[in-house]
Amino acid sequence: MERRVFGPVPSRRLGKSLGINNIPYKICTYQCIYCQLGKAVRMQANRQEFYRPEELVGEVKTVLDSIEKENEYPDYVTLVPDGEPTLDIHMGELIERLGILNIPVAVITNASLMHLPEVREELLGADYVSLKVDTVQHQTWKKVNKPHKSIRLEAIEEGIQTFARLFTGKLVTETMLIRGFNDSYDELTQTARFIRTFTPETAYIAIPTRPPAFRQAVPADEETVNEAYHIFRDYLDKVELLTGYEGNAFSSTGHFREDILSITAVHPMREDAVRGLLHKTNDSEDALILLLEEKQLEKLQFNGHNYYLRRFSK
Ligand code: SF4
Repeated sequence: MERRVFGPVPSRRLGKSLGINNIPYKICTYQCIYCQLGKAVRMQANRQEFYRPEELVGEVKTVLDSIEKENEYPDYVTLVPDGEPTLDIHMGELIERLGILNIPVAVITNASLMHLPEVREELLGADYVSLKVDTVQHQTWKKVNKPHKSIRLEAIEEGIQTFARLFTGKLVTETMLIRGFNDSYDELTQTARFIRTFTPETAYIAIPTRPPAFRQAVPADEETVNEAYHIFRDYLDKVELLTGYEGNAFSSTGHFREDILSITAVHPMREDAVRGLLHKTNDSEDALILLLEEKQLEKLQFNGHNYYLRRFSK
């Protein structure tokens, strides 16, 4: 039988996350070009019963009981199947039952069913909700997310805004950048403007880090990710990058090398800030040059300033 509970696994966003597959493998409302399940996805837009919530919660309890050290205990239990978790008609009951375990509940959803009042209602019970917003352009949405034919983008957008007004937990968005599809200046500006209408706590910009099923899904490069970061920052308070380095983000070790690698994995760092860090850690510019030579860092220009970004393209 397919494993339904896995982890805890480390996650930059969630700390230690115990994952729950609340739907069978590969069932989704989308068939994103960057999905590693890709062409194998079985598409559907109707919610249905897959598993009994009490069975899933029983499996979660078994895993929790087997954890011996307190520091290995999960920070979140997360509905994050290889597919779309809101297709589970019992999602609301599952979230409710998980809540009794006194561990915050997270849901990572592609947001495609946010037009359904019952899905929004059920998600209100979660502590953390991550919504996919790759684009707000209809044509691009069709090309990038390849949605089930019964789903409407405008209805999803309205649903997201309605949900955000009521949700008291932590709301974040995730935008996956695919070269030549949704990474132009206009696209990014429109996406950022839409996200601003419901002010999530953090807007994440991601690139595919695992091989996609469709070959045309090439990750945006550093230059574009840097630009996307700045465009999003013009509209949104908190923007972070998810480029494949979970790292030790934001923790200052007092060591230039570790600090700059962990910070630039999350957001581009302006040259003056890098110089400030060198000064703080008593390092010379050689340490910076070495990282550029090792191709760990990339130097990029934006709006007349130099920025450094963690290198992620091959
Ligand atoms: S929403 Fe997620 S699981 Fe569904 S096709 Fe897209 S990437 Fe794959």
